[in-house]
Amino acid sequence: RQSSTSSIDEPKVEIPARPHANVQVERSEEIQAIRSQLPIITEEQVIMEAIHDNLVVLVCGETGSGKTTQLPQFLYEAGYTMGGKMIGITEPRRVAAISMASRVAHELNLTNDQVSYQIRYEGTFKKESTCIKFMTDGVLLKEVQNDFLLTNYSCILIDEAHERSVATDVLIGLLSRIVPIRCQRNDPLRLVIMSATMRIEEFVNNRHLFKLKPKIINIDARQYPVTVHFNKKTPKNYIEEAYKKVCKIHRQLPKGGILVFVTGQQEVQVLCHRLRKTFAMQTTAIENDEAEPKFKSKRSKKKKQISMESKSELGIIDEEELEHIQSDVDEDEGGKEGSIASDIDDDDDDAGVEGITSEPLYVLPLYAILSSEKQSRVFESPPTGTRLCVVATNVAETSITISDVKYIVDCGKVKTKYYDKLTGVSTFRIEWTSKASANQRMGRAGRTAPGHCYRLYSSAVYNDSFIEYSPPEIVRKPVEDLVLQLKTLNIDRLANFPFPTPPDLKAIGVAEQILVQLSALDEKSPTKKITELGRRMAAFPINPRYSKMLVIAQENPALLPYIIALVAALSVNEVLTSGHVKVKKDNQEISVSLDDLRQQWIGQGEALSFGDMMVLLKAVGAIDHGSAKTELSVCTHYGLRPKAMTEIRKIRRQLIQIVKTILPDIAAILDAPLVPPNEQQICLLRKVLAAGMVDRLAKRLEGPVMIKGHKANNAYQTLLLEEPVFIHPSSVLVNELPPFVCYQQLHETNRIFIKDICAIQMDWIVQLNPHLCSFGPIEENPPPRYDEIQDKMLCYRKASIGQRVSWSLGPAI
Ligand code: ADP
Ligand code: MG
Repeated sequence: RQSSTSSIDEPKVEIPARPHANVQVERSEEIQAIRSQLPIITEEQVIMEAIHDNLVVLVCGETGSGKTTQLPQFLYEAGYTMGGKMIGITEPRRVAAISMASRVAHELNLTNDQVSYQIRYEGTFKKESTCIKFMTDGVLLKEVQNDFLLTNYSCILIDEAHERSVATDVLIGLLSRIVPIRCQRNDPLRLVIMSATMRIEEFVNNRHLFKLKPKIINIDARQYPVTVHFNKKTPKNYIEEAYKKVCKIHRQLPKGGILVFVTGQQEVQVLCHRLRKTFAMQTTAIENDEAEPKFKSKRSKKKKQISMESKSELGIIDEEELEHIQSDVDEDEGGKEGSIASDIDDDDDDAGVEGITSEPLYVLPLYAILSSEKQSRVFESPPTGTRLCVVATNVAETSITISDVKYIVDCGKVKTKYYDKLTGVSTFRIEWTSKASANQRMGRAGRTAPGHCYRLYSSAVYNDSFIEYSPPEIVRKPVEDLVLQLKTLNIDRLANFPFPTPPDLKAIGVAEQILVQLSALDEKSPTKKITELGRRMAAFPINPRYSKMLVIAQENPALLPYIIALVAALSVNEVLTSGHVKVKKDNQEISVSLDDLRQQWIGQGEALSFGDMMVLLKAVGAIDHGSAKTELSVCTHYGLRPKAMTEIRKIRRQLIQIVKTILPDIAAILDAPLVPPNEQQICLLRKVLAAGMVDRLAKRLEGPVMIKGHKANNAYQTLLLEEPVFIHPSSVLVNELPPFVCYQQLHETNRIFIKDICAIQMDWIVQLNPHLCSFGPIEENPPPRYDEIQDKMLCYRKASIGQRVSWSLGPAI
């Protein structure tokens, strides 16, 4: 077979033959009926011809057109799993991998290991039986490390390519090289890139990426018109505004589901709670008015069901918030000028009150980390006689389709993760989304009938402040973990790697430099090849500084549980809260600041030198020894954020899994609850930390320094910054002022502060990272000098040449 497209300077590529046999599938009638409604079904022939005849195909189609659920089935039926090969589908989100696998299994009438999912270290994959495998893009990226040509697969489908996650971008780059090699070997691998938007230039017109232009298929989504209503003014509080808008729609507009877009889990929960509370109250009012007993019993059953739902969903809600609800409702009845879209009748409150409340609002949350069974409720029809209202984050924008949505309420904002270029510390910012994403959100209505989209911002804001497309993740993130991953694939010249959108070359340079400092890359090799240590580090899906700590700790397995706990805690933002708590003393309740409490908590000696790290370790330990019941009170007592502790537990579990595969003998040590480390262990833990934090070291400066025209004492000098920094007041070491420290974060307010601090000894740096030190002549009683010389390398004059160079941690000092 010959490819149908070819460019002038490229020879025609022989595409190996398509599979010959078809696979029979027995689908239920119900499934048949649902499938036949999907836009993609009529295109099956066209799509399959394109895939048979081309190695790379791009399928563009609106969300809900059936790409994710149907394309794997087309390929399966056409015989692409014959001969023991699999069809692999990657998703940027774990949720999607899980829910889509189970949906496709159901549609194909196959088991959950025949159509399996794999996310990080959990999944239903079985070597003997799996023929279709859904996975996160990160999982496939790891598989490439073990089998570069992905020989177990006949087809790879990259889903949600428009989201442009780093892993998806890198996979597309890798596959652009893997596909031709597999073709040459007469063992073809088909690549299908699926995208919900038409923004495909980076994939299609990038000759650096695909030598042959990929075949493009557009699926015509049968979309009904959606009327867009902009707010006249842009409100400050979009949650408030969203709440009001949903109330209006529910009270005044005809049947049809409502989908609300906000930015995060907490917002989803607060809004769900308010809506449930409001409409549950109104349901009660109506029941009391109802004369007919038959009706009444039916209603109260419904109501009970709904309020049980809400109880199970509530999470933690600010009580103050609840008190305001009644007044909000009253205010809402009046209808505010300028905030209401044209087709909601502002003045007709009474007419609204009649029709409206007879129908309860069935409110469901949807966000990425919601359990999958709760998530799947959005696919079920709401209880009869209720109106569905889904309050969602970005997940509902493209990866999950909810049927029968007629009204969209869009706050226009998105929560984006940003990384500080200097420190790599990530922060979330809530900002205006892109025009492309606002239009995606709009498109969620109008799939089954004409719809309406209420944008809670003005058209001027849309025109002036919204960018066209969100930039791909790869240009926003520090890339040290990505660089390490590619180096494990022996892709050394990263400037030549076919990224769909290349990251900043400087960012790659910075990443390489950090990895060299961590000894993960070989400084002497011209292309900075990966070292043995680097390979061991790459096994862990965390920042390389932390994975270095995990590798070093393997030399002393007793330390591993602590390092795992610590690294997990350090990978989560804002574990500790601030403020005061009440404690009992001599039968009296007194208020104590959390900072003071933690100071007492950790004690003296080595533990104090371990500083804020000791606090984190104690926090994890306290949770470990409590029961699930007491967890919340432990959190409140010590000022720990409960969600952070949950996240830490997940990361810990994952890291333990990986360490177990490396050191199977110490499984028992890893699974035991954390006991407090002894003095000697703490000292070794500090050393391990110092070995990982090679670029985050600071030395106390003698005497006062000038800051913005004022003298300031107790300043520190870091390796990274010219200006002096200070220990953050929240640190347990703020009064200790150790001569040398390592820190996790730089945080700027009126001064630059270092946070999450641990005291270290300078000799450790020489012992553990000799390559970072330059050695000067030995002087008589020399003062230790620690300053920047070329390359921001560490200068430590006191050390003598010929000191033993070893990875061994040595004895505790
Ligand atoms: P696309 O990938 O093009 O966005 P999908 O294949 O995800 O489209 O969805 C196709 C249809 O399948 C949609 O109408 C969606 O509602 C439905 N669907 C997807 N998952 C489920 C599920 N778990 N249960 C019921 N319907 C589902
Ligand atoms: Mg999809």
